Amino acid sequence: MIDSTTAYMITDMLSDVIKRGTARRAQASFSKVAIAGKTGTSRDGWFVGYTPNLVCAVWVGLDDNEQLGMTGAEAALPAWVDFMQDALAIRPSLGGASFPKPGGILTVRVDPESGALAGPECPSSQVVSVAYRFAPAVACYMHMPSTDSEISISDSEMDVSSDANALNTEMESEEMSQPDQMNAPTPESPAAAEDTPGDPVEPQSKPTRRTTRIDSR
Ligand SMILES: [Zn+2]
Repeated sequence: MIDSTTAYMITDMLSDVIKRGTARRAQASFSKVAIAGKTGTSRDGWFVGYTPNLVCAVWVGLDDNEQLGMTGAEAALPAWVDFMQDALAIRPSLGGASFPKPGGILTVRVDPESGALAGPECPSSQVVSVAYRFAPAVACYMHMPSTDSEISISDSEMDVSSDANALNTEMESEEMSQPDQMNAPTPESPAAAEDTPGDPVEPQSKPTRRTTRIDSR
């Protein structure tokens, strides 16, 4: 058993594998069904993916462990898509529009480069769901606005703006330092690591708020 917020964070990352990562070709095959999954490639290829109500693993390899020479997305994903499409056609209740979100999850927009809250100067940003205890409270220190005036971080919509401003002011006068690693989500999520640089973030499919409410338990 793992904590429900941990499970949700993993599902959030594995949803990105479908949306932007190695299994993004599966996305077009499913409308209105939430899917998450992970490809695997070594001498064989596999894909493990799931909806909120059904999980399926496909492995493709050779009995003598000879090199298959195909990635998981090439070898196993097509069979997974075929099976899931048939299963959901027969029994739509095996799908599901979204993964149930437990309390204690915060949705934030971060700069994947720094892992801190993304600001207007950040070249790229990504909306992630993290457990409250892992949510970053510091605005991105790598892409600060160049003015000398007081830094404002989108003000009204940020719940933590007063804290963040205080920290920004502090960091301006000191050497650039790494934020507390305990407070920063790792920018190297599996999905992020496999993203091709410059992949556009799709703001219309994601909330653009940097910080949203904390679900009450
Ligand atoms: Zn940044």
